[in-house]
Amino acid sequence: MTVSNGVNGHKNTAGLLNWSYFKNVVNGELETTTNTRHSINPATGEPGPEVPVATLDDVERTLNAAKAASEKWSEVPYSERQNAMLAYADALEVEKENFSQILTQEQGKPLVFARLEVDLAIHWMRTIAKLELPEERVVEDDKEIIVRFTPLGVTVGIVPWNYPILLAAGKIAPSVMAGCPIVVKPSPFTPAGDLKLVELAQPFFPPGVVQVLSGDDSLGPILTEHPIPAKISFTGSTFTGKKVMESASKTLKRVTLELGGNDPAIVTDDVDIAAVAAKVAGLAFLNSGQICLALKRIFVQESIADKFLEAMVEATKTLKVGPGTEPDVYLGPIQNQMQFEKVKTLFADIQTEKWKVAVGGSGKGPEGKGYFITPTIIDRPQLDSRIVKDEPFGPIVPFLTFKDDEEAIRLANDTQMGLGASVWSNDVERANRIARKLHAGNVWVNTHFELDPRFPFGGHKESGIGTEWGVDGLKSFCNSQTLYLKKVPA
Ligand code: NAD
Repeated sequence: MTVSNGVNGHKNTAGLLNWSYFKNVVNGELETTTNTRHSINPATGEPGPEVPVATLDDVERTLNAAKAASEKWSEVPYSERQNAMLAYADALEVEKENFSQILTQEQGKPLVFARLEVDLAIHWMRTIAKLELPEERVVEDDKEIIVRFTPLGVTVGIVPWNYPILLAAGKIAPSVMAGCPIVVKPSPFTPAGDLKLVELAQPFFPPGVVQVLSGDDSLGPILTEHPIPAKISFTGSTFTGKKVMESASKTLKRVTLELGGNDPAIVTDDVDIAAVAAKVAGLAFLNSGQICLALKRIFVQESIADKFLEAMVEATKTLKVGPGTEPDVYLGPIQNQMQFEKVKTLFADIQTEKWKVAVGGSGKGPEGKGYFITPTIIDRPQLDSRIVKDEPFGPIVPFLTFKDDEEAIRLANDTQMGLGASVWSNDVERANRIARKLHAGNVWVNTHFELDPRFPFGGHKESGIGTEWGVDGLKSFCNSQTLYLKKVPA
């Protein structure tokens, strides 16, 4: 594989990165800090690599470098930006295995899914690089009206720990393509991969265009409050998203908020029970349930409920729990201790709420130091119970039932969240009819979580504001400007 030239005309070769250090990237330079910290490998409890803890001075220098780069970068022709982004994606492909290994080490997901995440990041970068942002133009007898999209300026991309590589790439690509320098802020739980992802960008972009700062919990608020960024592209919990919006409001920064979900699956009575139950179980427990778009409420039509639950239990029993480095593992550990303790409070509710457990239920996993939890299905808990109302973000899911389509739609929509939803049915017309009634930003028929970077992604209600990806996602990094150009002399 050869890596093509970027904007800097830099010719890269294989073995692009040195994986023995992890540094901030400020104005094209790799930097470390006096204080450092490390994440924890959630499968073993061992410390991850030392990473910087950015200081206020680092923040100032980084944002000022981004501001200085902004004017020039916004003037770089679109086709050159495209070439740089495509070259960057090629470089990621060369380094795919190293990124996959670090992802499993610090995030915990099985290696096969880590590789898939890196593949998706490459695909996202390439696809977004190929999107166009043309001017819209209306020509009339006496005037021409043009709508154009101009870069907002410096942006900050705040990334969560569940898909750190894909979600960082999904912010870097549209920001940079729109002409906006970006500062990436990784989650303190998964900093190493994102530091390397930004380091990898350096040969292809001028200094200050793609930067990264690793820090502790204080860094996010410092960035959202700072006057230089024009936009915060945030992915994380609804709780934090509200804080980000409040902080950004002080300088009227633009925000895109990609937040939590409580996705329903609606399964009608005509499906192939074994096949659909296996798919639904897989989509509830993928990434150990730590996906914004994981299936978090399973609604099955009453007449097939018992058989479907039985099949789902059988499918769930086949999903192996363990370290992501072991072959055939489907569920790695919970990513961090805080989340582990949070998920375990739902297991404590099993006793107090007298929930019926269909499979799992111990809140434990294989022996060892890792944060493992065996996948668990709760059989028909009360609709107002915490397992139904809240986003567990772990491998525990409620199994629920409905009588008819109307009830399914009502129950599925009975949530403050609105990220994703899916309908599973052999009657495609019926499924499409139900799909159009669901209040969510992403609705699938007979699949779930199958995203496409050519199209906008976002949530309804408390699942977010705005969209990322697709042409609308590019526009979200731009101001819209309408030009009214009279053809007659003044
Ligand atoms: P989180 O909200 O705790 O943290 C997300 C990021 O925000 C981290 O980088 C964190 O350091 C930073 N942060 C924390 N407090 C901040 C503040 N006050 N100001 C600015 N930044 C701050 O989320 P998490 O636990 O990392 O991720 C899990 C959540 O993310 C789940 O709710 C999940 O549904 C959601 N999520 C949503 C999407 C989506 O696209 N909608 C994708 C993945 C995850």
